[in-house]
Amino acid sequence: MYSLKDPTLLKSLCLINGQWVAAADGQTLSVINPADGSEVAKVPNLAPSAIPAVIDAAAKAQKAWAAQSAKSRSAILRRWFELMLEHQDDLALIMTLEQGKPLAEAKGEIGYAASFIEWFAEEAKRIYGETIPAPRTDQRLTVLRQPIGVTAAITPWNFPAAMITRKAAPALAAGCAMIVRPADLTPLSALALGELAQRAGLPAGVLQIVTGPAKEIGQVLTDSETVRKLSFTGSTQVGRLLMAQSAPTIKKLSLELGGNAPFIVFDDADLDKAVEGAMQSKFRNAGQTCVCANRILVQRSVYDAFAAKLAEKVKALKVGSGLEAGTDIGPMIEAKALDKIEEHIRDALAKGATLVQGGKRLGGLYFEPAVLTGVTAQMKVAKEETFGPLAPLFVFDTEQEAVAMANDTIFGLAAYFYTRDFGRSVRVAEQLEYGMVGHNTGLISNEVAPFGGVKQSGLGREGSRHGIDEYLELKYICSAL
Ligand code: ADP
Repeated sequence: MYSLKDPTLLKSLCLINGQWVAAADGQTLSVINPADGSEVAKVPNLAPSAIPAVIDAAAKAQKAWAAQSAKSRSAILRRWFELMLEHQDDLALIMTLEQGKPLAEAKGEIGYAASFIEWFAEEAKRIYGETIPAPRTDQRLTVLRQPIGVTAAITPWNFPAAMITRKAAPALAAGCAMIVRPADLTPLSALALGELAQRAGLPAGVLQIVTGPAKEIGQVLTDSETVRKLSFTGSTQVGRLLMAQSAPTIKKLSLELGGNAPFIVFDDADLDKAVEGAMQSKFRNAGQTCVCANRILVQRSVYDAFAAKLAEKVKALKVGSGLEAGTDIGPMIEAKALDKIEEHIRDALAKGATLVQGGKRLGGLYFEPAVLTGVTAQMKVAKEETFGPLAPLFVFDTEQEAVAMANDTIFGLAAYFYTRDFGRSVRVAEQLEYGMVGHNTGLISNEVAPFGGVKQSGLGREGSRHGIDEYLELKYICSAL
């Protein structure tokens, strides 16, 4: 039914110290295709006791890696980027098989994921220090920016490639080593990236990829005094846990956690463009994106018109296997995801909302994209991330009310608003308590801009010229003459 041009990219072993290895006791985990429940491959179920050797290998490799010139590290990263593009079709296919997203979206993610490696290959050469005019004439003050050392990444299943390159590329560019523990649902994209990193000439131990029990491996990584930094993307709940586990060793942390993105449509907006933006923001990856519009807030005078246009577009979405041409919405990642969407719909209907489109299970892990109107702050969808193809429409009257509703959440990752009024766009953009704001657009992610949240959506930024700072320490040197 499908075939890879380069079947050696489909790995069923972990990448440890430059070698492809199985679990010592032969234990494996199945990777399941959410489109039909079939097994795509098996990966090792490493015992936590295997991890200390991985950390030691990283520590040894890191010193030599950091000692290479920035230009040499940059060249290897550049080659890794080029290999990703050369193998874009295979990488996309592997992703669709394990994650379910439409093949075109998977291909798009590979391009996006590769762009972080290209960007940080360039940034590797620009890790400038500084000199400071000293307060005394007999001193010279210098600041170096040095790699943190051994780092670890724990990544989610919704973007199986990009969430890895966004962390590994700046880490490696800075001269750090990284141990990646990908999501158990989507380890194959990670392992394929590991294979390409090897082919690019990355020295053994600089990037290692381990699969196995999340909690136990997470514990070994956070307990380690050698691992100086953890970068995590996933739920706020697990982020909190990892932050607590990192406290005893005072680890540096980057946390990319949950969101509850508002998408505000003012009455002076270009309504068709707003509908288009809402479709992109809400339904990409079947709504399984941390920057997905979770609450669509529409000004009263355009509410009915917006709802009708949106429902029409949602009705036209094609649900099916990601491998079928023309599919807009693939299967959800697992059964729990469907339960949550249904729970949000049920709760909203019980509290007075109306289901104007979709909302049914379609068999297997498929769900009919849905639109709810008459949604209020008392409903679960107002507070929790649905992480599915459900668009809940709230109504508001004034700009002040819209901003207050938008900010009424513990989260602060992404927000979107549509208006053609200049003064309003400045006021609203400044008042939204979010790390990222889309003005008249539903798509904001790229490698050149800082991605990250405020409040309980996390710590730190990924991508952009700031992304590399997460993997560097400042060292101040005071020289007396
Ligand atoms: P999601 O809702 O995206 O599955 P999670 O926060 O549950 O978000 O998972 C994100 C990543 O964290 C996955 O790789 C998962 O396996 C891992 N994970 C889950 N629980 C823990 C834990 N207690 N310790 C370490 N990693 C964990």
